[in-house]
Amino acid sequence: MTQTAPDATLSTGTSDAGRLFASTDPRTGEVVAQHPVHTEAEVQDAVASARPAAEWWAGLGFEGRKSRLDAWRKVLVGKLDEFGALISAETGKPADDARTELALVIDHLHWAARQAGRVLGRRRVSPGLLMYNHAASIEYRPLGVIGVIGPWNYPAFTPMGSVAYALAAGNAVVFKPSEYTPGVGTFLASTFAEVVPEHPVFQVVTGFGETGAALCRAGVDKLAFTGSTATGKRVMAACAETLTPVLVECGGKDALIVDSDADLSAAADAAVWGGVFNAGQTCAGVERVYVAEDVFDEFVSLVTKRVKKLKPGGEPGADLGPITMPKQVDVIRSHVADALERGGNAVVGGAESIRPPFVEPVVLIDVPEDSLAVTEETFGPTLVINRVPDAVEGVRRANAGRYGLGGAVFSRSRGDELARQMRCGMVSVNAVLAFAAVPALPFGGVGDSGFGRIHGEDGLREFATPQSLTRKRFSALLNPMTYDRSSRTVKHVLRLVRVLYGR
Ligand code: NDP
Repeated sequence: MTQTAPDATLSTGTSDAGRLFASTDPRTGEVVAQHPVHTEAEVQDAVASARPAAEWWAGLGFEGRKSRLDAWRKVLVGKLDEFGALISAETGKPADDARTELALVIDHLHWAARQAGRVLGRRRVSPGLLMYNHAASIEYRPLGVIGVIGPWNYPAFTPMGSVAYALAAGNAVVFKPSEYTPGVGTFLASTFAEVVPEHPVFQVVTGFGETGAALCRAGVDKLAFTGSTATGKRVMAACAETLTPVLVECGGKDALIVDSDADLSAAADAAVWGGVFNAGQTCAGVERVYVAEDVFDEFVSLVTKRVKKLKPGGEPGADLGPITMPKQVDVIRSHVADALERGGNAVVGGAESIRPPFVEPVVLIDVPEDSLAVTEETFGPTLVINRVPDAVEGVRRANAGRYGLGGAVFSRSRGDELARQMRCGMVSVNAVLAFAAVPALPFGGVGDSGFGRIHGEDGLREFATPQSLTRKRFSALLNPMTYDRSSRTVKHVLRLVRVLYGR
């Protein structure tokens, strides 16, 4: 499938340098399509043309935008098979993994379009007792043009956490997809252009890190970045030069806690899914499991049985696909080697499981807490399972890392209690990753996992700025905010304050 992608999404035309790059299928190395390497000048042009588009889009209002976003959702639903095949081609993920990703995309797009008016639209608030003669209201207005930079692991779902919510809030978007998945970004923008042909409200610029860096400096009103912590720091530094606000969604090293009274079979199923799904290339995937000592052996045996059945492959029905980004294989290899050298044991697989582009699932137990497989993001189908005296100690260890994206707890009697002690942005009790699939829940982390939120009401407000408004309804009997006031007026106001708030 070699082709040149149509450059329909960048309103300013093709790259002046005319440089192209290929996206390839990591399963076969076959070229999927060629895409332009957009230059700094082209990125600036894209942002400039997005500005009037943003004004037009904002002017449609919540209902006008909702009808366009609903139409886009229907176009995407009509093209699910085509879109899923493209995601599989650029990432190598099995067909059902791509379909699952798209189901989430659609659900979030629906939620954002439907809820934007309620969350961001003008609403009255109480003026308070001292300002009783004014009406007070608040409204969240669009920021203007949002730059979005996305990763390759969920090339549709992850950026859409910003794109759909930013559009629903009334902004134009310029999106730079990962160099591994430019076709997915282009597909999103070109389907959007089918339902919004009038103005370049959603554009895509393609290329490498330099194109992303150019977007940071192009004068966007906010930059929403999802990717590794190291790149997130570079993005923040670039945005600081122009005081461009940032939303930074970075990596994770999420832990699952298994309490003594947990449903072990369900916990093992979830650990395996959370660790191996998408070949472990999930920011909020399960990378560490802390299991209460008294159920450790049984849990490990249940996990082992399940994992041994899973095989990577390039066929659409494989359990897991390849490692999409070739250099990640070295990271996975070094983490497994380090864990084994430091006394950890492999109960499934080992160093020999790494056969690029595929990595067979690896389960490591009793791995020292200061080894790379515990402290750094592995981003492969590996699980570290460590024993702890009890679940509380599991939470303590989970919290010891520098990341704090998501987490999970399996416990029959105190799931919520343990979950609320975890230092992270999202936790699922008796499940894994459930929070990512609930559109109303904000998604994001703390610490090295970044800051700001996509999804939910907070995710809509990320792409808007509040405007407060008061309207005087009648003159107050006591008005201390004028030079016409008398000292008696202020005295009366203070008396009122003492009566109202002093007791
Ligand atoms: P990277 O950080 O390598 O890249 C992310 C994006 O940034 C890509 O589009 C990349 O472009 C671009 N980029 C690279 N250099 C620069 C630069 N100097 N300025 C601006 N943009 C730049 O991450 P990956 O693509 O490898 O994605 C995997 C990472 O993403 C993992 O750490 C994962 O945990 C994290 N992630 C976090 C999520 C979250 O919501 N918290 C969700 C999904 C993933 P190019 O590819 O062309 O180099």
